[in-house]
Amino acid sequence: MPERDELFFTKKNAWDTLSEEDKAQLDTYCEGYKQFLDCAKTEREAVITAAQMAESAGFVPYQRGMKLSAGTKIYKNVIGKALMLAIIGKAPLSDGVNIAGAHVDSPRLDLKQIPLYEDGELAFFKTHYYGGIKKYQWVTLPLSLHGMVIRKDGSCVDVVIGENAEDPVFLITDLLPHLDKDQSKKTLAEAFTGENLNILIGSRPTGGDKDTDRVKHTVLQILHEKYGIIEEDLLSAELEAVPVARARDVGFDRTMIGAYGQDDRSCVYAELRALLDIETPEKTAVCILTDKEEVGSDGVSGMQSAVFESFMEDLCDSQNVKLRHCFEKSFCLSADVCNAYDPNFPDVSEKRNSAKFNYGMGILKFTGARGKSGSSDASAETVGKLRRIFNDNGVVWQMTELGKVDQGGGGTIAKYMANRNIVTIDAGVPVLSMHSPYEITSKLDCYMTYKGIKAVYHGK
Ligand code: MN
Ligand code: MN
Repeated sequence: MPERDELFFTKKNAWDTLSEEDKAQLDTYCEGYKQFLDCAKTEREAVITAAQMAESAGFVPYQRGMKLSAGTKIYKNVIGKALMLAIIGKAPLSDGVNIAGAHVDSPRLDLKQIPLYEDGELAFFKTHYYGGIKKYQWVTLPLSLHGMVIRKDGSCVDVVIGENAEDPVFLITDLLPHLDKDQSKKTLAEAFTGENLNILIGSRPTGGDKDTDRVKHTVLQILHEKYGIIEEDLLSAELEAVPVARARDVGFDRTMIGAYGQDDRSCVYAELRALLDIETPEKTAVCILTDKEEVGSDGVSGMQSAVFESFMEDLCDSQNVKLRHCFEKSFCLSADVCNAYDPNFPDVSEKRNSAKFNYGMGILKFTGARGKSGSSDASAETVGKLRRIFNDNGVVWQMTELGKVDQGGGGTIAKYMANRNIVTIDAGVPVLSMHSPYEITSKLDCYMTYKGIKAVYHGK
């Protein structure tokens, strides 16, 4: 009969068991991660940064028909908003590939297509929020603008303003407490509406007092001076307002990271870094940095797009392998964040099945809502496989699910991969204050996610 310790499943805080080597590597890893977060505040910036990192590690843009052999490192940029990378393995593609997939988009405020207006002699940008936000978190918060504008002649101008110390920043106002008698009686959803998320951008008038929209006029003059654009150009623009705050260590012990966009860039960085760090794997390793997860994975750059088949089929063609034969032998780790247990809100979680900070990478057998609705629900065999891979490679992991039964729910790209006949399971970094302008993760869990994905790329 095994001893009591062997019979019981007990979770341990990984700080008690972490090797000196892991402790040392964890800090180096997290410094790189924080730098990545500051360079990649939008999906486009994440793609540019990831492609640059890949190029310095020897990856080249994939050209249809190019010669691929074991060790060849390629990437494909998808309309500037998603990236697919691969290292060709020693085994043929008919043996399947090991995939890690994370998303580069994060909740934010997009500018409307006709954003600029003046009211009360102040100029504003109207916004349309992207993804699941709690609107009250975005008022009185310094914001920067990132994105690009397509001018009338088709030329493109990039915009990043609010990140440098000397840049101006932008804000959404809120009511002073002295006058919030009516507001304070409303529910959160009623008190903060999408149409009220208007960003303050100017106050100085131009022209004589008989003119109208004088402050708007000043803003348009500055936009023209700085970017060479006119108001109509904003109609063909993608401008995203994101928090100015940079990634910082959190806590006296510096064990945590606070930053915008850690859902899902904590997993994006983990799977990218892991791919850049591995030698030629046995099976081909594929790293997907997808877009549009926060709004349903639709569109060319989303995970439901045929662009993934198109890329994989090109690889398969080079070895005369049928794509469907490759898929049915493949394995996908859908690398997305999960919620960490928050002692300030114990009621939404069931403690036994909740991820905790410093207990490692969180595995989710299923996501979805209510009776597991909308989830691909990985099989016991798949959980067993991942568990073995992690245990064999010193990866600290934990089992979790998204809150109490019937408390809410959510989804990831897992089901879109599984629907392609690819065995898929979710795992990722536990996060506090997920989807807020400043999310928190544990450094140890971030590092373990990197280690976990690296082990998956090496999987047989
Ligand atoms: Mn996510
Ligand atoms: Mn999310």
